[in-house]
Amino acid sequence: MRARHPVSRAETPLRVVILAGEVGFCFGVKRAITMAEDALVQDEPVYIHGDLVHNRNVTDDLESRGLQKVRSLEGRPRGSVVVRAHGLPRTEVEEAKEAGYRIIDATCPIVLRAQEAAQMMEARGCQVVIIGDAHHAEIKGIIGALHHPALVIDTVEQLRNAKATRALRRKVGVIFQTTHALELCKDIVGELVFMCKEVQIVNTICRPVQNRQDAALSVAEDVDMMLVVGSPTSANTMELTALCHAHNPWTRHIEGAEGLRDEDLCWAHTIGIASGLSTPVHLIDEVRSAILARTDEPDFSRRPPREFYELRRHGG
Ligand code: SF4
Repeated sequence: MRARHPVSRAETPLRVVILAGEVGFCFGVKRAITMAEDALVQDEPVYIHGDLVHNRNVTDDLESRGLQKVRSLEGRPRGSVVVRAHGLPRTEVEEAKEAGYRIIDATCPIVLRAQEAAQMMEARGCQVVIIGDAHHAEIKGIIGALHHPALVIDTVEQLRNAKATRALRRKVGVIFQTTHALELCKDIVGELVFMCKEVQIVNTICRPVQNRQDAALSVAEDVDMMLVVGSPTSANTMELTALCHAHNPWTRHIEGAEGLRDEDLCWAHTIGIASGLSTPVHLIDEVRSAILARTDEPDFSRRPPREFYELRRHGG
């Protein structure tokens, strides 16, 4: 049986909104935002490669206060470079340092620990296998911390393909993208154990992410429909959506109150809300208020079919 998590409940005679106990920024996101804000009060340009955290609201705000998002530092006046919460490849950091820029490393300590776990596996002679999204900033940072290429897989099909093309070695060291849901990785791990002679595993999934997933699931199972608020570029938000969807097929991802659809709210009486770890609390409050402001009686006969809520594992 799933552990119960504290929830926040608000209701009108027409609708009940249950907010998962864990919402708002995680400590890694808070820390990165504080470091960037501190850098912005200095009298020098402040640059960043990519987004500090995966939420447009947050990054737009920092950019409006002077943070300059750049692809390359070439020709830019000296200043500070903020390393995003999910890290940068080591070579990029070294190059910036050597070129005379001040490095403000906002890499989350949990991401650093995942990099160290990968390095430890490599030092033990394992092929490093990362279960995660090859295009994600964090995975690029982990790969950039290694001396040899790592194998990145996110589905059982990709794993079988790696085996068929001999890209998978016999002795492997497995780590996970910090934002992944262990429940959604167990099939890959199960197959790996049969395919390789030796499998070493370090669970690098972030504890705040796991707590958020547990808290969301304890709500998702009890409500008519579940909403997950966050940016579509936020891996933990999309993973949370996939996880909630596996337990409540009437789950939707939205970026904010503007994403609420009449066809969802016209039938649902109890609505759960969870959020990604880089979603500002005010966006969640706006969603809750918009639902409670509705004056129509829920009509369960208008519930759309399950297929209406189908989602891809990442995105959408
Ligand atoms: S989700 Fe976890 S790993 Fe990512 S920034 Fe937050 S605490 Fe760090």
